[in-house]
Amino acid sequence: MRLQDKTALITGAASGIGRETALLFAAEGASVAVVDRDREGAARVCAEIEAAGGVAVAVHADVSVAADAEAMVAVAESAFGRLDVLFNNAGIMHPDDGDAEQTDESVWHQTIDINLKGVWLGCRYGIPALRRAGGGSVINTASFVALMGAATPQIAYTASKGGVLAMSRELAVVHARENIRVNALCPGPLHTEMLMSYLDTEEKKERRLRHIPMGRFGLASEQAKAALWLASDDSSFTTGTEFVVDGGITAAYVTPE
Ligand code: NAD
Repeated sequence: MRLQDKTALITGAASGIGRETALLFAAEGASVAVVDRDREGAARVCAEIEAAGGVAVAVHADVSVAADAEAMVAVAESAFGRLDVLFNNAGIMHPDDGDAEQTDESVWHQTIDINLKGVWLGCRYGIPALRRAGGGSVINTASFVALMGAATPQIAYTASKGGVLAMSRELAVVHARENIRVNALCPGPLHTEMLMSYLDTEEKKERRLRHIPMGRFGLASEQAKAALWLASDDSSFTTGTEFVVDGGITAAYVTPE
């Protein structure tokens, strides 16, 4: 098992990437703090892990609130005695996020607060816990939109993910000599609730699929496997990367017919 005797905190773990990662990390031997603002969802994932023989604790927290971020780390540390892996994954895609002229200021604030400030707060309280454990791995979920522009704009979302990527790079450098690795995970478009409710017609889905060389949306479970590698000691010399798992989008200029 690749995470034997390790403990992990995963935000946004009630759904999508976070949920798949929580189940996988637990199956690989980690004790997992399942953090989400969806209380029932977090409890459900926790119960799934326990039913499979794993160890987990459900934590209700809003990652954009400093007191919640501090408390989620404290709960994980006190439940399991240490923290080895911090996966700052919670994020939103606001339905009214659009171009620079039309997007409301409230949409901007909400998106930046959760997607960017939430990652910072996770690091603010989580990194000292990793240091107390003698080091560890931080994974911050950015996106391929941190690397490429789209003609279907989501100005606040894109800005938030660019911020996550830049921040992760800096954190990696600052903490490199403390045995704390920090990597940004950059998923491509996934077949999850988040994206499918945004691409709510076949035409919108088709338009997006045309740009993916592999010709399909990714799965949350495929991101979980990438996160497992970044969390485990197999990636011991990997820090500061933009770890792209995107079906080839960022490599493509013209996609196959
Ligand atoms: P999802 O909507 O399935 O899951 C997100 C989870 O985060 C939900 O359980 C939600 O309750 C939780 N959450 C939202 N705001 C929160 C907050 N303030 N505090 C605590 N929890 C909160 O989405 P997903 O597709 O699994 O996305 C996970 C991450 O991956 C996000 O950061 C997203 O931006 C990123 N991402 C997704 C895609 C995609 O195509 N789905 C692509 C690139 C990046």
